[in-house]
Amino acid sequence: MPILLRNLLDMKIFSAGLRAAMIAGLAGETFDLLVIGGGITGAGIALDAASRGLKTALIEMQDFAAGTSSRSTKLIHGGLRYLKQMEVGLVMETGREREVLHRNAPHLVVPEKMLLPLVKDGTYGPLATSFGLWVYDVLAGVKDGEQRVMLTKDQAIAQEPLIRQDILEGAGLYIEYRTDDARLTIETIKTAVAHGAVCLSYAKAVEFEYNERGKISATQVHDQISGQTFAIKARKTVNAAGPWVDKVREKDSTAPNSNKHLHLTKGVHIVVPFERFPARQALYFDVPDGRMLFAIPRQGITYLGTTDTTYQGDIQQPQTTEMDVSYLLRSANWMFPSLHLGPKDVISSWAGLRPLIHEQGKSPSELSRKDEIFISEGGLISIAGGKLTGYRKMAARVVDKVVRKLHKRYGTPEKESFTQQIPLCGGDFAGGGSEAVKVLLASLAVVAQPLGLSTQYVEFLGFNFGSNAPLILNKILELRPAEPNTDSAALKAEIWYCFHYEHVQNLADFFIRRTGRLYFQRDRLTPMLRPAAEELANLLAGGPALADQMLAEFDREYQAVLNFAQVPALA
Ligand code: FAD
Repeated sequence: MPILLRNLLDMKIFSAGLRAAMIAGLAGETFDLLVIGGGITGAGIALDAASRGLKTALIEMQDFAAGTSSRSTKLIHGGLRYLKQMEVGLVMETGREREVLHRNAPHLVVPEKMLLPLVKDGTYGPLATSFGLWVYDVLAGVKDGEQRVMLTKDQAIAQEPLIRQDILEGAGLYIEYRTDDARLTIETIKTAVAHGAVCLSYAKAVEFEYNERGKISATQVHDQISGQTFAIKARKTVNAAGPWVDKVREKDSTAPNSNKHLHLTKGVHIVVPFERFPARQALYFDVPDGRMLFAIPRQGITYLGTTDTTYQGDIQQPQTTEMDVSYLLRSANWMFPSLHLGPKDVISSWAGLRPLIHEQGKSPSELSRKDEIFISEGGLISIAGGKLTGYRKMAARVVDKVVRKLHKRYGTPEKESFTQQIPLCGGDFAGGGSEAVKVLLASLAVVAQPLGLSTQYVEFLGFNFGSNAPLILNKILELRPAEPNTDSAALKAEIWYCFHYEHVQNLADFFIRRTGRLYFQRDRLTPMLRPAAEELANLLAGGPALADQMLAEFDREYQAVLNFAQVPALA
């Protein structure tokens, strides 16, 4: 039976206002498990562990999802290209996960038609594509009615008139799932919290303490907001630090200097207005250098990506270069020649780092996306590699190891993972699936439209916050007598919700990782910034000075998405 988490809605247990109490709780207890890293990998582990009854803590040195987990292509996909690399197991696992994640968060993991144009001398020929997509459907257990369809050249042109026609031979049309990576992470964190985990952002693991057996017994944590340091005691510690996995391993004096290490590759996405790239559906297309790119229309924009280049710079702020942008524009113009996209069309961007495991002699695109677990003498369990799509399975594998060790040493009960049956926060839909999301959108519209809120805003609320969207709508109604401007009431209501239920600490948390607005609506952000800063400063019990400080900090992020470095990308 699925576990419903309505009770979390009544408890503001994850409020940013409770930070001091959370730190006191973390410092005073001994946990079964401490997870370092609040990206999707750490979030999944915290949920799996807490739901199996382990006393679990998670620390994240930035905001939740501020690393790679807010900078991906935002697809829950089986990875068609891994089939070409014969990674059948990976395709099967991630393919099947799509259905599980859709069931547990239907508002966030949404089926989306993907068109794969077949071009002369392209990556996939017509027969190979037809067979490959069929195998893909079978491996991923795709249900009837959603299986792939092969299109002739004329049908492909009718489906997507923007594709260049001189080299077109046909197309494959198949189902993938789109998501919002940062929201998937925060909803997973909230679900872990609802199961008893304590999850704290802006808290950095800086040093390990060892017991008399040489095992890690505590982690020194630096509170990035207050500047204080405190220790968290835990019987087991997992390093889920994504691109920082090696950095955290370096803090462990017992970790061997092994030949297994990360190979970071950078992936850039650029955003253009939908009118400049009016794609009728998502596309996965060949480009001249033999790679394939995605073009994904959503919320009035189309985003394009990604690059894949070895990266050795600053991990926290991977930068988009002019070369990255011109590569993506050139590639899009090659396949969609009528677009004539230029640098001025780019209205936002993001760059992320893939935490892959190094393999001698392989190029970035050839490196496996499989995950691996390393365990040090001191007991630090590090997980690296993997994909957003497979996070639930990865988490179960890590927690299986933790549970076995805890049982052996402390007699802790050995419970199996059951996250397959746990709806994520916001995914609490009676009946489930896309139909239930439609019902939610219709009921939100009944209240929102008389207030003058647009259909697009209703969709934004429904797909972003799922079954918690009515909380925001109710707050808008509550604020309206004093705040007759509906847009302004809506912004205040969202901030109220994200502060009390989603642990928002600053404007970047809100505009990037809770609402995606810096990426998808940057051109409409300016009038929202000061009111948002003032509202959040109020909730944080700070004055106008805090609002000004937050605005200045956010301005750096606001500029960075269009500030492209001139240095050449490392090959
Ligand atoms: P992260 O999200 O980086 O999380 C690690 C966290 O650890 C960070 O937030 C960091 O701040 C924190 N941390 C580090 N050190 C410390 C410390 N000392 N103390 C406390 N916290 C610390 N996968 C898909 O399935 N679908 C896709 O469409 C897809 N597209 C991608 C596109 C690109 C360009 C990239 C780069 C990746 C893509 N992926 C995709 C892969 C997927 O995004 C990653 O596998 C996943 O997000 C990694 O999550 P993570 O939690 O391991 O790492």
